[in-house]
Order: sequence, then structure tokens, then C-alpha cells
Amino acid sequence: MEMESLRDLFVEQLKDLYSAENQIIKALPKMIKAASSEELKSAFQEHLEQTKGQVERLDQIFEELDESPRGKKCKGMEGLIAEGKELMEEDAEEDVLDAGLIASAQHVEHYEIAGYGCVRTYAQLLGMDKAAKLLQQTLDEEKETDELLSGLAENINVQAEEEAA
Ligand code: FE
Ligand code: FE
Repeated sequence: MEMESLRDLFVEQLKDLYSAENQIIKALPKMIKAASSEELKSAFQEHLEQTKGQVERLDQIFEELDESPRGKKCKGMEGLIAEGKELMEEDAEEDVLDAGLIASAQHVEHYEIAGYGCVRTYAQLLGMDKAAKLLQQTLDEEKETDELLSGLAENINVQAEEEAA
């Protein structure tokens, strides 16, 4: 792939995010199943629906760019999801596993926040106002999800801590 302009970098990073989002769509149902807390399950469920909308936003942007979303595998997300999978294979106590699932999910959200922050800024610089708006919407959703998870962790971490007692 050519990498001569900010637009090239923009397309490359969007492809990466497209791959990342699709990997998340596959991983979240397993996390929903693994979670014990009803609140955590529904937070994951809600974010799964949100994530599908985020892929649609990316689709719109690729259409505007007249580029294909395919052709790249996000290795960063692959690694984060592999670590989450490792955790789910442990023989963990319920609350401890929930706390671990939150940690996993927050790593994913922070990775996405970094990615969307960059492409949102590139879109602004490239004068792609509609794309910048769509990417900002996704960035806001990722940040909200991260905050929601921090809120859930306040109780779940304590429950996990009390488990051995
Ligand atoms: Fe996302
Ligand atoms: Fe997300």
C-alpha cells in the first residue's frame, strides 16, 4: 500500500479500525456469556449493538473515500482479544473473572480511543467534515463505554477483593 500522504495514512488506519471493530463484534458475545454480573452483561450487550453502528459509520466513510475497508488485520486488537480469551479459559471465581473482563474491555476501549482520536484529527485536516463528525461520534461512544466500565468496576472490584475473605 502506498504511504505518501496523510490521506494514505488515514485510509490505512481506517482499515485497521475496521478490522478491529469486526474482531470485537466476534469477541463480545463470548464476553457476555462469560460475565456473571447482569449489569456487566448488559453493558457488553449494549456496546455490541453500538459497535455494529460504528462499523456502519466506517462503511460510510470508505464509500465517501471510494476505498475498500478490507485488506488489513488489526494485530493490536488480535493481541488484546487473545489476552481476554486466555483470561476466560482460567478457572476463575465469578467476581474475579468479571473484574478481569472489565480490565480486558477497558484495554480494548483505550486502544480504540487512541485510534479514533487520530483518524478524527486526520479527517479534520483533510477537510472531510462529515467523516470527522462520524469518527467523533464513535470516539464519544468509546469514551462513554470506558467510563461506564469504570463505574461498574467500582463495585465488581470490591466484590472480587472480598471473594477470598
Ligand atoms: Fe468500537
Ligand atoms: Fe468500543
